[in-house]
Amino acid sequence: MFSRSIDFFRSIEWLRFRLLATVVVLLLVGFGATNLIGYTNAVRTLKETILHNELPLTGSNIYSEVQADLIRPIFIASIMANDTFLKDWLIDGEKNPAQVTRYLDTIRAKYGVFTSFLISDATRRYYHFRGGERHVRPESPEDIWYFRVRDMTKPYEINIDFDQSSNDTVTIFVNYRVLGYDGRFLGVTGVGLSIDSVQRIVARYRTEFHRNVFFVTRTGEVTVTSQDGPRTGTTIGSLPGLSAITPQILAGQEGQFEYQRDGETVLLDTRFIPELGWYVLVEQEQSAATRPLWRSFVTNLWIGSAIILATALVIAWAVSAYHRRLTTLATTDKLTGLGNRQEFDAAMLRLTRPGRRQGRPFAVLLLDIDHFKQINDTLGHLGGDEVIRAVARRTRSVLRTTDLVCRWGGEEFIVVAHDCSAGEAAGVAETLRLAVEEMAVRMPDDGTRVTISIGLTTSRLGDTADLILARVDRALYQAKREGRNCVRIAGPVRAPAAAGAA
Ligand code: GH3
Ligand code: MG
Ligand code: MG
Repeated sequence: MFSRSIDFFRSIEWLRFRLLATVVVLLLVGFGATNLIGYTNAVRTLKETILHNELPLTGSNIYSEVQADLIRPIFIASIMANDTFLKDWLIDGEKNPAQVTRYLDTIRAKYGVFTSFLISDATRRYYHFRGGERHVRPESPEDIWYFRVRDMTKPYEINIDFDQSSNDTVTIFVNYRVLGYDGRFLGVTGVGLSIDSVQRIVARYRTEFHRNVFFVTRTGEVTVTSQDGPRTGTTIGSLPGLSAITPQILAGQEGQFEYQRDGETVLLDTRFIPELGWYVLVEQEQSAATRPLWRSFVTNLWIGSAIILATALVIAWAVSAYHRRLTTLATTDKLTGLGNRQEFDAAMLRLTRPGRRQGRPFAVLLLDIDHFKQINDTLGHLGGDEVIRAVARRTRSVLRTTDLVCRWGGEEFIVVAHDCSAGEAAGVAETLRLAVEEMAVRMPDDGTRVTISIGLTTSRLGDTADLILARVDRALYQAKREGRNCVRIAGPVRAPAAAGAA
């Protein structure tokens, strides 16, 4: 009976802890999961955006820039190829080469190109802005381009000369076919100039967007590259990660890829630039882009966890305040403000716990107001309550603060007096009995004083709460039987069965 009520309080305590722990874990897991889902979604969206919007846009911007840079030399070469002076001079038999040299030099100076030239198909002579004599020959490898252009159907070609020794300078030649008024092929004219757009682009995209830009030929050889890109001259087919997708890159006009390099996911956009005959590759490491997302994910986790823990602390505090209040309510007698039976049970459990150090004995006193039914019958239950309260107050005031006074039920009280021998306890009980009698509360019908009877026992070796209660109950019964308004001390130990029969 005793241990069950205490266990109940302990189990409430444990339940409270488990409930709070469960709520905190649920909140943390729920919050962490939603945050994680949000983060992975954001990463996926960002990756898609980079791969399918940003990188392709960069690729097409680069293409436009390169195209814009090529317009001028094509335009200049077109002017030259359609110049009637040049046509007439070729048709008239190439008299006075100084005229053509002057023409070519004027073009060169005017447009800021580094070379300008004319080749006559009739004489195979190569005219240069600096003058001088040279012939193109089909068997010379460096003149092959001329015979290619001669047999071409389109009006011009762009020929790239890539000079690795001079700081990756890309030199382009525009070779324009010169046709007579009757459409007959007369020769080839054009200009050569270095375009810096390619280098400019590579450098700018590196610093502004943290993207690697590099150009590769149709065979995958790297021609121009940014600082962190693959070295020029290497082929992408030999690079880790890239090698696997090289055939796909070189087979298509454009594409978006994803590959692994040093444990990093790299997003890659490729685009073929027909004017250069090169592919431009724009790539970006995924982690560089998603790092801010990761940082805000971690920050969110910290803030969320802190809020959850703070909330848990507030709840724990509130619950324990309520719990304390409930415990007080549950262990307090409403009418008298004394402890109730619950509280007495707990005290007895503590005092009779096995293994408890055997100190001085304690005394238990059971008090019962005499002829209380009469008081109730005459004054009514409210009047009876007043008498109960008066006796409670008196009892409490007479005893030491360390003594426990509880309302046992009805008009009965139970007292636990700590460190109290049998003799001391008898004295305390007598004092108590007298104190109530001296209150001078009168019985309503015959005017005699309100008195109490007291049963008393002290703790013995190997006592249990039930044994003590049986003894003290018997002692009180004896006090009632022997005339009331007296104290009776429980006799020697008797078996509980015998006590029940008594
Ligand atoms: P005895 O001298 O033998 O103790 O006689 P008694 O009349 O006091 O007899 P008993 O202890 O059996 O009666 C107690 C009465 O107390 C019975 C019940 O109606 C009344 N009672 C129990 N609880 C309360 C209470 O909270 N308030 C009031 N006013 N009366 C109560
Ligand atoms: Mg009674
Ligand atoms: Mg009574």
